[in-house]
Amino acid sequence: MAGKTQQIKVGNQVIGGNDFVVIAGPCSIESKEHFLETATEVKNQGATLLRGGMFKLRTDASSFQGLRSDAFQLAKEVKQEVGLSFLSEITDPRQISDLMDVVDAFQVGSRNMYNYSLLTELGQTDKPVLLKRGFSGTIKEWLGAAEYITKEGNEKVILCERGIRSFDSNTRNVFDVNAIAFIKANSDFPVIADPSHGTGVRNLVIPISLAAAAAGADGLMIEVHPHPDQALSDGFQTLNFPEFSNLMKSLKPLLSSVNRKLAVL
Ligand code: PEP
Ligand code: MN
Repeated sequence: MAGKTQQIKVGNQVIGGNDFVVIAGPCSIESKEHFLETATEVKNQGATLLRGGMFKLRTDASSFQGLRSDAFQLAKEVKQEVGLSFLSEITDPRQISDLMDVVDAFQVGSRNMYNYSLLTELGQTDKPVLLKRGFSGTIKEWLGAAEYITKEGNEKVILCERGIRSFDSNTRNVFDVNAIAFIKANSDFPVIADPSHGTGVRNLVIPISLAAAAAGADGLMIEVHPHPDQALSDGFQTLNFPEFSNLMKSLKPLLSSVNRKLAVL
């Protein structure tokens, strides 16, 4: 199984090559203005793929659930205006047909890693799937979940380590840097690190991003918002614009020390 990492095209960006890809954007898309402002800034700072939740699976049923289908048109416009390809979470197989021309890759969230009927249906599409690790998923179960997609014929699976639950309550999750190195050594899937959910603590995002890059991750997924304290979801782990700029600056020397560089479009 282990060999050279597959290169997977997500819209206009390749994941899994030598260049390190930064995916950035808000946890949730809140309005056209908010998404456009964030997308423009992350692109100017060097991100080459855009994230933004439209369907949010929240612990509290009365919390903001995302703009859902109200975000489709504005997301398409922002993508087009900014020139970045876009990925977003799918929470139900009934969303596939609507999302087909909105996203360039489907994101499967941590809570759905074991949703084998969703994975099977995504395997019947030809769009890349970013498969997050379940917060209680072993690496074996995560790779098993990826097989539900590839078995149907869709080989375009990108794994995403987003932290697992532990007994320690100082951080929301524990980012498993072992998993990054393990996936690189034992599988052909590209692996993206999500230190925003992996730590759940804003000021840990930069150090853990650097650790993931040093361990061989193919890229990062980072939550960014113009005013994290006002974000409708996950503000506590979200970087503001100057913090995101610091992250991008700190990545450069780290990547060059391992003969890599940031991807450009
Ligand atoms: C997200 O990326 O906003 C998200 C909900 O992540 P996870 O599925 O890893 O919790
Ligand atoms: Mn989030």
